[in-house]
Amino acid sequence: MLRYSDKNDIFNIHTDAVPYLSFDMLDRLGIPNLFSTRFISYDPSSEKGTAGLRVVIMKTEDRDEAAPVVLKNRDRLAKQLGSSIEMECITNQKHTANVYAVEKEDLGPRYPHGLPEKRQRIDGLVTDVPGALLTAFGGDCPPVYLADPVKKAVGLVHAGWRGTLNRIPEAAIDLMSERYGCDPSDIYAAVGPGICGECYEMGDEVYDAFALEWSREDADLIMKKYPAKDTAGNDIPGGKYHLDLRKANLLTLKRAGILDEHIAVSNVCTRCNADTFYSYRAHRIENEQAAMLVNRFG
Ligand SMILES: [Zn+2]
Repeated sequence: MLRYSDKNDIFNIHTDAVPYLSFDMLDRLGIPNLFSTRFISYDPSSEKGTAGLRVVIMKTEDRDEAAPVVLKNRDRLAKQLGSSIEMECITNQKHTANVYAVEKEDLGPRYPHGLPEKRQRIDGLVTDVPGALLTAFGGDCPPVYLADPVKKAVGLVHAGWRGTLNRIPEAAIDLMSERYGCDPSDIYAAVGPGICGECYEMGDEVYDAFALEWSREDADLIMKKYPAKDTAGNDIPGGKYHLDLRKANLLTLKRAGILDEHIAVSNVCTRCNADTFYSYRAHRIENEQAAMLVNRFG
């Protein structure tokens, strides 16, 4: 098995070709979805995998050399969902809360750089184009998947701490309602793998930002101050806040009108499971996971 904690069995694990996890809740609705790992292939019988899957061009890489590799890998992942890179839409992910409504003309292979002007500074996508494939990237920042089987529309957002602070899942839900007439009570939402609260140390300014933008009660709910330790391991004054992105995005989804029974939240931490997943905090810049969602139902 892939090495990760999955106490609630909210994921199905696929190791036939390029390995990935999928949300059981979305699988049951017939909505193709995935979250990739660092593995190119994996053999469950020997519990050994070939690591090094590259799905996004990193800043340190030669774009011309990396582009064909990452596009081919994303095409392989997409094909496992019955889609292809020809149906894909990505964003350049700048930690905004901006969401873009994808049209048919937006679909097709793109490099993460050199996107058209209207798709710059975007961290969330929504669409009602049948068969459209939405892709987001994350190496600790969780993706949030949205799907409305009634209006046949989907959304996918990149929710790092800034996107979470600015409630990007709600921005996507609002746009789905405005554009496609979605009722939040019909929408299913899944918070994907990302860094856990234990691993996510933040500066006091992040606590202050949540206290200001949300409320002090909310900030106390989603952030906790971990005591500082001396060399002997004893608690000493000081310490750092830790942010629970899962709890924060869960709050946003509920407040946006998503029903409890339509929400799945990953308990998989990319940093705690850095053997299986790329983690920015664990490895700095290596690569990232792809989150994919196809606008197809049943
Ligand atoms: Zn962790």
